[in-house]
Amino acid sequence: MNKKQNITILGASGSIGQSTLDILRRYPDRFSVFALTAYSQVEKLGDLCMQFSPQYAVINGEENAEKLNKLLKSKGCDTQVLCKEDALSFVATHKDTDMVMAAIVGAAGFVSAFAAAECGKKILLANKETLVMGGELFMRAANTHHAAVLPVDSEHNAVFQTLPESVRHEMANGVFSGSLNDKIASILITASGGSFLHTPLNEFEKITPQMAVKHPKWSMGRKISVDSSTMMNKGLEVIEACRLFMLPADKIEVAIHPQSIIHGMTRYTDGSILAQLGTPDMRVPIAHCLGLPERIASGVAALDFFALDKLTFHRPDLQRFPCLRLAFDALKIGGTMPCILNAANEIAVAAFLDNQIRFTQIAQVIEKTMENMPNTTADNVADLLQIDKNARIAADEIIKKFQAA
Ligand code: NDP
Ligand code: MG
Repeated sequence: MNKKQNITILGASGSIGQSTLDILRRYPDRFSVFALTAYSQVEKLGDLCMQFSPQYAVINGEENAEKLNKLLKSKGCDTQVLCKEDALSFVATHKDTDMVMAAIVGAAGFVSAFAAAECGKKILLANKETLVMGGELFMRAANTHHAAVLPVDSEHNAVFQTLPESVRHEMANGVFSGSLNDKIASILITASGGSFLHTPLNEFEKITPQMAVKHPKWSMGRKISVDSSTMMNKGLEVIEACRLFMLPADKIEVAIHPQSIIHGMTRYTDGSILAQLGTPDMRVPIAHCLGLPERIASGVAALDFFALDKLTFHRPDLQRFPCLRLAFDALKIGGTMPCILNAANEIAVAAFLDNQIRFTQIAQVIEKTMENMPNTTADNVADLLQIDKNARIAADEIIKKFQAA
């Protein structure tokens, strides 16, 4: 039997982190957990350390680290606790890490995912914001260092499963450098349409954070749930698909498919379309990435075709979902505009969740930030992080103006 795979889970306390650990529990002989990270949930991370005995645990801040250390010592757990700024990158690039689940939410996940790419690690990439803010830089680093980038995002994972064999092989071995474009006609990613697909437009003003974090089909973290309800999530995913699969924007189709059974498809020039179907549960794409090249059990119940009523598809309405239009605009403009879009979205969503702005103002904050920020290029991580920071400041200022008005 092959040697056990050591896995580092960045964002272990989150929704994707939990789903990953749920699968790992089934395969103690196949995987061992090398490091787990969280931001502020000390007790949750403590519980996970007790269950999985990783070598390292990373938490934000000295105070949290001290608390976690005490907790672990009192239970006889000898996991080493880290909290310094470079701790996430340290565990992601450690020589004993074989694969990295990148499941931190937002731009905060970029640096550690990038470090893993530069180190040639196998990366199970859930953190789509990495590809939106700096996809070109990230993919260049991954290719240079032969880091395999396996898509965890369900639509991208679905597309990946339906790609030509040679491309899947290249991607799984970290040697993919853009050979897909002339092999296919297009790819298609589906969208559930979120919670407000049929809500009358004049009621959008009254949408509360509690309403927006409830997703009709998927159980996810708060930020991505709001992104799904504005459909920014699909916008981020179109940019993610362009970067990951190295395809031009006109080769990516989006269809609203409220049943969320087909997740992604590939159209071939002969008229064939290959699709991936499954119950909407993130353990399916996670198990696919973990098991490659084999298939392993995800714990998800088999899809019952006879319980399905119908599968429907329609075009997204860009008036109803201006965030999706803004993402298409950012992609067309290129340069650092996707990074600006992503940063402004994170600030706007956080302000909405904090009841500082209305649901309809999320798109307005992003649009104004995009208008106010110059579009440039970023050839290195330091420049990219500076643009991300500037866009956050610009978005904050716009929110303050909205509040003052
Ligand atoms: P959650 O909010 O559930 O979890 C986020 C994780 O990141 C937590 O472990 C959190 O720690 C940690 N974290 C938050 N902020 C920071 C920070 N500044 N520095 C370091 N760690 C931080 O998110 P999800 O699991 O839902 O999503 C994770 C990523 O996966 C996102 O990029 C999302 O877009 C993507 N994704 C998620 C899907 C889903 O179904 N959930 C589907 C497809 C993609 P703590 O718990 O301590 O706050
Ligand atoms: Mg998705």
